[in-house]
Amino acid sequence: MLKKIILVFIVIFISVTCSGDQGFRIFHDSEHKLIYKNSICNPNGEFPQMVIIPFLKRAAQIVPRCNTYPKHKTALAMMVFYQQWVDHFGDDHGLVKEMLEDTVIEWDLKKKKFKKAYSLYGEKKENINIIGLAKPGNYIWVWAAYGKISETSLMHELVHQALRATTGSGDPDHEGDIYSGWTWEHTSMINKAKKTLRAFNI
Ligand SMILES: [Zn+2]
Repeated sequence: MLKKIILVFIVIFISVTCSGDQGFRIFHDSEHKLIYKNSICNPNGEFPQMVIIPFLKRAAQIVPRCNTYPKHKTALAMMVFYQQWVDHFGDDHGLVKEMLEDTVIEWDLKKKKFKKAYSLYGEKKENINIIGLAKPGNYIWVWAAYGKISETSLMHELVHQALRATTGSGDPDHEGDIYSGWTWEHTSMINKAKKTLRAFNI
């Protein structure tokens, strides 16, 4: 009986530790500890300022002020994104991980005007205010809305970048029919990721 209990315990323990592997452990890298420690936002420095994001090799963010957003919050948001992406779509070749580790996020306090963009359901809109942009070269521009990352379009822009990394196209019309890639499941994944961020008060 005791043997059985121990065996069950070991099996549970292994399955729990394994489930986290693809999501979080791959981002741990002690080689970069020193850089993370030294890359701190300086409130008396010039803005916008570039800060390295911990746990994500070469990822960085450009901030308009130090509390938009503390680097640990951005790092956690990106990890939550990755966990959700892997749960829904997997990342066997590590392309999404690679994209995240090489991403630059620029936070802006103002929205941008854009000539042409698509709504979530593929409707073409002209001369509209946009709140986020996913550019080639793993560059993301995001309007820093209402003080929380969960209320910004970061999760949405990361889906564009993950699609670009895995299919070659960022799918600008989302669930529309002009470009392929984005499905209802991507939209649902974003909502789940945002819920998780809210649970962390991020
Ligand atoms: Zn979009």
